[in-house]
Amino acid sequence: MLYLDANATEPVRHAAREAALAAMNTLGNPSSTHAAGRAARKLLEEAREAVAQHCHSRPQDVVFTSGATEANALAIHALGVGRPVLTGTTEHDSIRAAAPDAVPVPVLVDGTLDFAALNALLTMHPDALLCLMAANNETGVLHDIAAAGRLCAAHGALLHVDAVQAIGRCNQDWLALGAASFALSGHKFGGVMGAGALVTRKGLEINPLMRGGGQELGRRGGTPPLPAIAALAVVLGEPYEAERIAAYRDAMEAAAIASGAVVMGAGAPRLPNTICLALPGVRADTQLIALDMAGIAVSAGSACSSGKVTSSHVLAAMGQGELAGQAIRVSLPWDVTEGAVERFAAAYATMAKRALRPQAASA
Ligand code: PLP
Repeated sequence: MLYLDANATEPVRHAAREAALAAMNTLGNPSSTHAAGRAARKLLEEAREAVAQHCHSRPQDVVFTSGATEANALAIHALGVGRPVLTGTTEHDSIRAAAPDAVPVPVLVDGTLDFAALNALLTMHPDALLCLMAANNETGVLHDIAAAGRLCAAHGALLHVDAVQAIGRCNQDWLALGAASFALSGHKFGGVMGAGALVTRKGLEINPLMRGGGQELGRRGGTPPLPAIAALAVVLGEPYEAERIAAYRDAMEAAAIASGAVVMGAGAPRLPNTICLALPGVRADTQLIALDMAGIAVSAGSACSSGKVTSSHVLAAMGQGELAGQAIRVSLPWDVTEGAVERFAAAYATMAKRALRPQAASA
């Protein structure tokens, strides 16, 4: 199988597997006081130190969670109290669901943020919490977090960054760019599923969503998922070959365009590994099934959570509503090899030809 669905989950890296196994072989709960508990606690705190170091933060400002869905919800719960919440219209469902009454900040046709609209909204709501993704999971379009950080600081608003798809691919010092907090999820950069983190600027108070046994300095109750946390911490520092991956991405994109595809977010700054391809007149699920039968795993727009193919709110927000049900996402994993380009190009061309032929015949 040719796996091109890295934005759903990246293949587990070797170092992550090793770290998770070592943690599984450590007896004990980090909250226990006996020697086994202390050994588990040591692993947990070493992981926290490593995350803090990579994220330019302090260990006490790292809260481990089950993933980014929880980290985003925790940020909105903790920082959004008494503040109007603003969210980009292309945000991930984990933000949309945690802030259902948020004021929407529109994007432009290429998927980048409409900064004039943001400025007007921050003028109206200077005490807002703005939740913004660093990179879009469907299109790969990057938001200018530095510009958003400056604007929030000028108005006195707080910024929370959903950095899930950017971490490991185009890391930045999100806190230095003006974020009060940011969310990450280990399995999106080669860790194992089950751990994420909310990283905050110095001393930010975090009111817990789940209280339980008072773990994570009272900010997140529940036994921490130690194997997944150990894996997350170890892969944060792994190198990522952005140029090599972007070159394959560009070649796949060119091949798809030659077969009739339209690229969503073309022209905007994007992740090196992501292409959102609409094939006008051909349903996304038809494309997905045809590629699956050719042994290629891609996804259709937004539907990675439930497995069902739904129309993408991201493309609708970009004014591409009529193409929203006809777009697939191709996201290259960190271990993609050159052979993937030709294999994808051939399968896409065959799929497009078959799908478009009946329409061409009746035209
Ligand atoms: N934010 C973005 C941009 C995502 O792509 C995802 C997952 O697809 C999440 C948040 C949620 O991450 P998780 O499912 O690991 O909690």
